[in-house]
Amino acid sequence: MRYSQMLIPTVKEVPAEAEITSHKLMIRAGLIRKVASGTYTYLPLGWRTLRKIIEIVREEMDWAGAQEIIVPCLQPLELWHQTGRDVDYGETMFRLKDRHERWNVLGPTAEEVFTSHAAAELNSYKQLPVNLYQITPKFRDEFRPRFGVLRSREFIMKDAYSFDATPESLHRSYMAMYNAYRRVFTRCGLEYVIVEAESGEMGGTGSHQFTIPCESGEDTIVYIADGSYAANMEKAAVDQLPKEPARDVPPPEDVHTPNVGTIEAVCALLKTQPRDMIKTLIFSSTAKEAAKEIGAEVAKHNGRPVITSKAHFELDYAVLVRGDHEVNPEKLRIAIGEPVTLANEATITGVTGAKVGFAGPMGLTPKVHKLIIDHAVAAMAVAVTGANKDDQHTKNIVPGRDFPLSGDNIVVADIRNAVEGDKYQGKPLLFKKGIEVGQVFKLGTKYSQKLGANFKDESGQLHPCLMGCYGIGVNRIMASAIELYNDENGIIWPISIAPFEVIVTPVNQDEPDVVKVAEELYRKLTEAGVEVLLDDRDLRGGIKFKDADLIGIPIRVTVGKKSVVEGNVEVKLRAKAESEKVAIDKAAEKVMEMIESLKEKVSV
Ligand code: ATP
Ligand code: MG
Repeated sequence: MRYSQMLIPTVKEVPAEAEITSHKLMIRAGLIRKVASGTYTYLPLGWRTLRKIIEIVREEMDWAGAQEIIVPCLQPLELWHQTGRDVDYGETMFRLKDRHERWNVLGPTAEEVFTSHAAAELNSYKQLPVNLYQITPKFRDEFRPRFGVLRSREFIMKDAYSFDATPESLHRSYMAMYNAYRRVFTRCGLEYVIVEAESGEMGGTGSHQFTIPCESGEDTIVYIADGSYAANMEKAAVDQLPKEPARDVPPPEDVHTPNVGTIEAVCALLKTQPRDMIKTLIFSSTAKEAAKEIGAEVAKHNGRPVITSKAHFELDYAVLVRGDHEVNPEKLRIAIGEPVTLANEATITGVTGAKVGFAGPMGLTPKVHKLIIDHAVAAMAVAVTGANKDDQHTKNIVPGRDFPLSGDNIVVADIRNAVEGDKYQGKPLLFKKGIEVGQVFKLGTKYSQKLGANFKDESGQLHPCLMGCYGIGVNRIMASAIELYNDENGIIWPISIAPFEVIVTPVNQDEPDVVKVAEELYRKLTEAGVEVLLDDRDLRGGIKFKDADLIGIPIRVTVGKKSVVEGNVEVKLRAKAESEKVAIDKAAEKVMEMIESLKEKVSV
């Protein structure tokens, strides 16, 4: 392609909202433009890279035996109701009514649609295993779209769904995808780590995440230095803390703490520290709001339509963690057995009898469905907590003495995030940031049971298919590569996903000899199947070099007046400072050798 004919709008300035390197460089290099919050247009260079990533993903999926199909992004809400995910997906799912008053969603993922096809088309064990995938836009009404295409509201996901007859066969399907993912990320030139993950609300029995370690990642990788363990924050388990030695503690004593509702403020006032406090949080089952509308065909759940035909119970939970710890929503969901959300103000006041900020565990058990206590709280010798009275806290609270640690509706479990200083299996846990680019799940029968995706075994008995699902964030691969590979001048693409492999830069567009050599090289390389961008713009060399560095083409061939007179051109890797002089008639050959050696680094 000729630069002069392409739309490559490089810019110097980026909007203030572009906080991280990849977001800034994608705008500066003219790869993307924002349309609205969390939605982007891919301009020619950006789309070329995205297409290459898509093609790598497609090749590896096909190679692993998965079959590509396309299902609609526009899906009936009714289908999501059949698995209960019309409620569980919450605010993140876009919902819209059509002209016939029917509710639809814009698919954030597609388990329901794929499983409904499996229900209709797969009947016998003889047809299994089957793995179907698609590479299509997904829609998520993210609370805070940010970091450019890393967390956007519309993005391209590769999602695959496997259907198997036995656990062994499911494991084979799972591992085929796991290995395909390793090949995909290696071929895209990414350095990644694989971490154990929670299968979460997907409902399942095992999961791994593929994560790119880098500072701007929103995920936290928790690991042990010797490599024996790596998990994401949702999953990372911690060893129980040793029980603090018992001491003589006087009876509980209320203290006046007017309008001091935060941990920090209470600590300052009472001269204590967060680790000596108990935080009491009230959660409600996610389905609770919907329950208020039982019977209505379409009800509102947090202001959004859901279908509620089945009864939900109104359940509230009290949750205790130490003042310096954070509740881990995934661990909490597992301890409780259903999705929960922080209770609203009215519920908190109803349960505790006090305004928000003054909840404590004393006397709460009869008022909630369950009291969930973190291990670290159970290990405390004495604590300060809210008093369940306005503007009051209570000192000298002894877990087990002043509130129960066991009983019918009491669960003591690991429900908090791991923190610096924690151990697992006796070894210190370490932390680093990362970007999740893909995840694989063993789903089991959650979806197949609810949607009737059954198969007959050899004796004619019906069983629900064992499912797996497998997602890759195509746009995130692109942004992650830029996060990993850049310098002060711009992007340094891995060759496999670079928009072009080579840029040929004639320095003086008004010198016929220079132009001739550049055009000739462009023709030769293009004919040999190399992806070449010829910078034929009538601009100063300095500007062309700056743009070439910014857009990150891995190899640059500079054709200058002086070197042409000497019979040479200059060949340079984007990743290196030095260039090399090569005889004009050897240049094409040299460039192709360089391409080969760059490709070797990203081959599997
Ligand atoms: P996250 O925890 O970052 O919100 P997720 O775990 O909800 O992601 P999955 O449901 O596992 O995401 O989706 C599969 C893949 O799709 C993710 O691994 C990620 O690469 C990509 N993805 C998810 N949400 C977004 C988004 N808002 N923008 C861009 N890519 C996304
Ligand atoms: Mg995920």
